[in-house]
Amino acid sequence: VTGGSQGAGYRPVIGLEVHAQLLTHSKMFCGCDARYSGARPNSHVCPVCLGLPGALPVINRAALEQTLMVATALNCRVPETSRFDRKNYPYPDIPKGYQISQYAAPLGRAGHLDIFHADGPDRVGIIRVHLEEDTGKTMHSVLDGRPVSLVDYNRSGVPLLEIVSEPCIHSPDAARRYFAGLREVLVYLGVNSGDMEEGVLRADVNVSLSRGAHPGAKVEIKNLNSFRAVTRALEFEIDRQAALLEAGGQVAQETRGWDEGQEETVSQRSKEYAEDYRYFPEPDLPALTVSPERVEEIRRTLPELPAARRARYVDSAGLSPYEAEVITQDPALASLFDETLSLQPPGGSKAVANWIMGELLRLLHEAAVPLEASNISPRGLSGLLRLLGDGTITNAQAKIVFARMFETGAEADEIVRREGLAQIADTDELAATVRRVLAENEALVRDYVEKGGKTEGPLIGKVMAATGGRANAALVRELIRSLLSPEATAQ
Ligand code: ZN
Ligand code: MN
Repeated sequence: VTGGSQGAGYRPVIGLEVHAQLLTHSKMFCGCDARYSGARPNSHVCPVCLGLPGALPVINRAALEQTLMVATALNCRVPETSRFDRKNYPYPDIPKGYQISQYAAPLGRAGHLDIFHADGPDRVGIIRVHLEEDTGKTMHSVLDGRPVSLVDYNRSGVPLLEIVSEPCIHSPDAARRYFAGLREVLVYLGVNSGDMEEGVLRADVNVSLSRGAHPGAKVEIKNLNSFRAVTRALEFEIDRQAALLEAGGQVAQETRGWDEGQEETVSQRSKEYAEDYRYFPEPDLPALTVSPERVEEIRRTLPELPAARRARYVDSAGLSPYEAEVITQDPALASLFDETLSLQPPGGSKAVANWIMGELLRLLHEAAVPLEASNISPRGLSGLLRLLGDGTITNAQAKIVFARMFETGAEADEIVRREGLAQIADTDELAATVRRVLAENEALVRDYVEKGGKTEGPLIGKVMAATGGRANAALVRELIRSLLSPEATAQ
């Protein structure tokens, strides 16, 4: 919350409506392929998703199952009966003139999501989780010098989940954390790709400024598809409303858009109310019945969610909350951690975590690829840690070996053998090198002797350089001390 609005005693009241595309093979009410990314415009369409007269919808069972998983994971109550309704509004990207959605009887109600931050968890209430269909996509362009609008219906009818929070969030940062927490749950459940740039997850945020017991007018900002956009749009809007109220003006209840380039919200239209949509039960679809036994079965078979995983990493694997947070941010990373750990001797969790958070994340970031597309496997990482643990390679060498594993997918021991990277821990072999280095660096040796052994660092460095970083540093230090000890030098 910015200083201005806080100083004036305004409290932001924020709610989020998040739309998430479900990862089903076919669309919500027809058999068209729902994976349309990159396809030719209007190539994934049929009479149903084009809204042609007489076409009838059929409910996608997988979409229903995925929605029930989300509702359960978000601690919602799942009523025994729910149904679809028609939400009527005219717009070119909605060919039927209505969207099939859920209004009076959604699949999930009254849930919550705990979001974590430095001060601990914070609970965001969830009013409802419902299932609907996505719209087509309108593109504005210029053809023969005239402005035109083009519509692509490939997205029309793709299953869309809507998750509506209570207006119980009080800062842009908490809103961002809630949105990120939701994304994490959806990705863990495998029902959404989490690919924000593809627009598969979009947030409409509403924000008002209350003062004392006076609630403010609610402004909605539509279609924010990045965490940054959510934070920046809310910050801007809170400042705008506060300035307006300070100047004695009034905030209009309206829908605004977010101009990414200008970093400002712009008025679009006055807010619609539910009655404007003339909702009524969808006559072409039956009501849905979900038995409590089915809900219980779904609850039992849910995968481990990120919050539970973080708690397990802190409580039983001994990671810090920060380490647990970093590793659980991506389910693939967390699986790598779990599976590598299961191949390691007991007590190896810190080493596995360090390696994942350090070298692995660095290489993934540099190569700009997800873990799934890299060559790193639990078996591979475990093999590397074994060589490091038994002293075959030094930490510096392990980094080189790991980079090769990342590039080629070869096993660590194979790389060590092929490239002659094994650590030199043989006393005789190393003693010969140390003697040679001491003979070649008389000035450093004199300095060492004069200062009573306080300047061994540069000598160790020379030996490491002479062995290409392969020398066991502890052994080198020991050899230098014994070769330059007063007894040895007196002879
Ligand atoms: Zn279709
Ligand atoms: Mn919606």
